[in-house]
Amino acid sequence: MKIEKPKPREEPRQQQGPYRFLNPYNFVRTLEVRNRTAAPLLGRCSPPPHDRYVGISGRITCQLTAVTPLFVSDSEGITEESVGEKIHSHYRFFRDPEGNVAIPATSLRGSIRSIFEAATNSCFANFAGDKRLSYHLPPGDALRLVPARVRKVNDDRWELDLLPGTTSVNPTQRPAGPQYAAWVPTYTPLWASRTTAKAPKSPYSARQKVSLAGFSHGEPCQAIVESVQHPLRRFEFWNVVHLAQQGQRLPNPKSNQRIVSGYLCITNQNIENKHDERLFFNTQQLKPVELPSTVRQKYEELIADYQERHGDEAHKRKQPTKPHGKEPAFSRFIVERTGKKEPKLVDGDLVYAMLERNLGGFGVQFIVPVSVPRVGFNRTIGELLYPGELGKCDKYDHLCPACRTFGWVWGAEDRDIAAPALAERTAYAGRVRFSHANLTHDAGAFDSTLAILSTPKPTTARFYLRPKAGKPQDGLPDHQTDFDASGQILRGRKVYRHHGDRLNPQEYQSVNGAKSDQNRTVHGVQDVGSVFEFTVDFENLAAVELGALLWSLSLEGWHHRLGFGKPLGFGSAKVDVIAVNVLSNADRYATLTDETGGWANQTSEAHRWILTFKEAMQARYGMPFEKLDTIRDLKALLAETLPLPVHYPRPTANPQAEGKQYEWFVGNKRSGQDAGSRLALRLADEDREGLPLIDKYGDQKS
Ligand SMILES: [Zn+2]
Repeated sequence: MKIEKPKPREEPRQQQGPYRFLNPYNFVRTLEVRNRTAAPLLGRCSPPPHDRYVGISGRITCQLTAVTPLFVSDSEGITEESVGEKIHSHYRFFRDPEGNVAIPATSLRGSIRSIFEAATNSCFANFAGDKRLSYHLPPGDALRLVPARVRKVNDDRWELDLLPGTTSVNPTQRPAGPQYAAWVPTYTPLWASRTTAKAPKSPYSARQKVSLAGFSHGEPCQAIVESVQHPLRRFEFWNVVHLAQQGQRLPNPKSNQRIVSGYLCITNQNIENKHDERLFFNTQQLKPVELPSTVRQKYEELIADYQERHGDEAHKRKQPTKPHGKEPAFSRFIVERTGKKEPKLVDGDLVYAMLERNLGGFGVQFIVPVSVPRVGFNRTIGELLYPGELGKCDKYDHLCPACRTFGWVWGAEDRDIAAPALAERTAYAGRVRFSHANLTHDAGAFDSTLAILSTPKPTTARFYLRPKAGKPQDGLPDHQTDFDASGQILRGRKVYRHHGDRLNPQEYQSVNGAKSDQNRTVHGVQDVGSVFEFTVDFENLAAVELGALLWSLSLEGWHHRLGFGKPLGFGSAKVDVIAVNVLSNADRYATLTDETGGWANQTSEAHRWILTFKEAMQARYGMPFEKLDTIRDLKALLAETLPLPVHYPRPTANPQAEGKQYEWFVGNKRSGQDAGSRLALRLADEDREGLPLIDKYGDQKS
């Protein structure tokens, strides 16, 4: 096998105008049924039994040609290399049991099934429908949060002691006086403060840092505070100038200062521009507020969501409670709860509460652990699936075409749905069997240290959702585009677009060949032009199902996407159906390995089965096959590509060593006076102009 390392190629000059790029993924839309009685096999029904032969059985032989470099990891032969303090992993290409380079059957099956699901408008089989996403509370709403301390009265009754400082609580508005919690200036921000730069002489910028050495989170404290006006925004706050533990003496306050007592709330330097912690205190007579179990439970879900997003990264840091270079620290509640502790709310926890007025005083809508928190959307992902009937199949006698063809296992993804009765069948084996694909023409192979595949990204509703009616619009505020906005639906099935000629080694190689625990080195990447061969055995398929399978395999000559590194452009492949052999006497299927009798070569009939499928789709969905949204979107993403670079959104034209991709999303979603462009991803078949570069301040760059 020859080993060659491709050199980065010169990025072709853009014709004219500013730099634009295509997002590496987009979505294939779903279809609404127009005629429910047409082509019932394209809807949901019982699968045929495995022991009676009522349909067509046989074998499809296919050739697969790599159109971009192809890599499928082997679970064996993984080696580790120490790079500094980190472990970098090396992977080799998959081998069959005889040790030959091959594409595993599971990988082929997965890729073909995903095309089949999209083309037949089947169920969303791999879909965390009960997951509730979270978002950053907009700053205006965050100002209404009231600091509070949790008190467990007994197992059934929990309460909040409100700690709003000197300002009376008004749940519908931002504080009328100083902010509820006092500020404790203690950090040098990782990003230079824009406020200090714009108002260097203000009392705000002159504040002295207070050391928190020896203090711990939640500790009762006394403090000297004085009022400070924010120089750029219209609010004031109590600033802590001295802090003392209980029993320690404080100096005498000056005339513009006062002494307060409260609790220190330390969440760590978890945001780049953070400079202060908070002191929760109260000078008013206030009744405790009841904390219902539903609110406590949602809080624990939220902490679990934070942990899921950041727990792994936090574990990799030696000192996750401190910033690492320019990267912020992890929040206290992520670090302290990623150990053995459950994400449980406990007596004495400090939280921020979103309140509402009720008859007795205040009720609690939700509680959160930080002042600019993530909060869970009211709606789960599954509630945004449209049409809703495309949720994962859950009854044996009501399976979609993909589950009947490729197989189905009942899955308890939604905890609210009771498990089926013992007598009910909970799995169906499917009627297709893939072989591994064996390498039949070796066009060469190379090794590559790949770019970091993904970094945590904000919840990008502008990319994942669209309005049910009309097209995605740019420039809309968050509340009109997010998961709780009315009329928003999931865009559909995520598909990584074919990069084709646009594939540039600069985009898939690690910048400067850097190795870490975030990226991989892959060995034996099959180069463009390598050819593999595989078979698909099928049994008992109806003509329309066989047609759908043949269409999904040959895919009009467009590209399948398989293996590792799809967002980087790896793994585009064409499949040619080179033979279709049918068992003329289906009862002989049991002796499939005995290739002597009953076989008929019907390769020339393949196009007729495909036509049967296309006509059935037209009858059920009311439009010529090629005009269906699903097919147009698949074509847009998997046929030839546009003359634009393909990569994840980022602030610069060249990739950067540290994944700064999230800065694009931070800038794009900025609201307020310096609002970002708030661009929405175009529909797949209209995604031709691409996206601009955007920096973290929301400015477009060329
Ligand atoms: Zn299904």
